Amino acid sequence: MESEPTCADVRAARELLAGRLPATPMWSYPALNEMLGVTVHVKHENVQPTGAFKVRGGLTLLAAMAPKERGRGLVTYSTGNHAQSLAYACAAFGAPCTVVMPAAAGGQKVRALGAQAVLHGPDLSAAQARAEELAAVSGARLVSPGDTPALLAGVGTAYLEIFEDPAGPELDALLVPVGSGTGAAAACLVAAELAPRCRVIAVQSSAAPAAHDSWRAGSCVERACRTAVDGLATGRGFALPQRLLRTRLAEFRLVSDERIAEAQRLLAGHAHTLAEGAGAAALAAVLDTPADFAGQRVAVVCSGGNASAAEIAALAAAPGPAPRGGSGPDFPGEPGNRNAPAAV
Ligand SMILES: *Cc1c(COP(=O)(O)O)cnc(C)c1O
Repeated sequence: MESEPTCADVRAARELLAGRLPATPMWSYPALNEMLGVTVHVKHENVQPTGAFKVRGGLTLLAAMAPKERGRGLVTYSTGNHAQSLAYACAAFGAPCTVVMPAAAGGQKVRALGAQAVLHGPDLSAAQARAEELAAVSGARLVSPGDTPALLAGVGTAYLEIFEDPAGPELDALLVPVGSGTGAAAACLVAAELAPRCRVIAVQSSAAPAAHDSWRAGSCVERACRTAVDGLATGRGFALPQRLLRTRLAEFRLVSDERIAEAQRLLAGHAHTLAEGAGAAALAAVLDTPADFAGQRVAVVCSGGNASAAEIAALAAAPGPAPRGGSGPDFPGEPGNRNAPAAV
């Protein structure tokens, strides 16, 4: 599976995942729909065992490797959900796993999954350089979070589930949050085959627009990464997903971190769902301009639920402004809480 993945590879990934991950639910919430004037289906990847969709990719990668190669171990670099995905998958297949993370990341979650966490340097590019050294010395397989075809094919299985759902054939648009772009690229592959009239729309934070700008430029560019939203925090475009997105993606939207926080509050109040920021970004794009989707049926991927305690506390403390052009949405929460001062 080292060449450009296709929808057939996504189907093959589903065979590899059989018995390892149940399908995740997709629900629609009447109060949310009424507020937005849009029929929204929320695909719940936040209920995966690692709290994010990426575990589909990690398990697919490990399942496709020969036992001998697994035995040499895997090395990767990540601050968050990719690290947990690979650690989880390595544990499931008994493969040694090393994750290099920026020093501030901590590493508790991957250690709990049985992986070795190496804390190194100030940021992810320093961690990547260290991971490359470690792989060269040990002979372990170096895994790029964005440019590994098996990861992309694996995460694509979520989109088979979406389009095979009873609501799937009626979808006008599918909104997918983007960091490296593997999820959105896989969504395009599956949509082209199962739902060609459904528009796939990628969503990134305006405070970290590398994938968006790469798509617009037609080549991979680097951009400042100032978003507080972990899953979307990439500083460069990744070649493999960009290549797939280039001709297949209908649209790429940017949303502010503030809008993403509003969408997190909406999911908490109207969809009883605790999403991390990245998990609410797709809904944030609908919330940003509901008129663009008026009367439509859309699916949004709630890609993850790994919100930190500090992130959850901040959501409760500081309700955001009303959406642009919206007619006074009633934000969920305790009555009277809406104008409460920020907690100290
Ligand atoms: C990684 C991640 C994303 C972005 O996915 P890519 O495939 O890297 O574009 C979105 N949401 C969550 C929760 C993530 O962990």
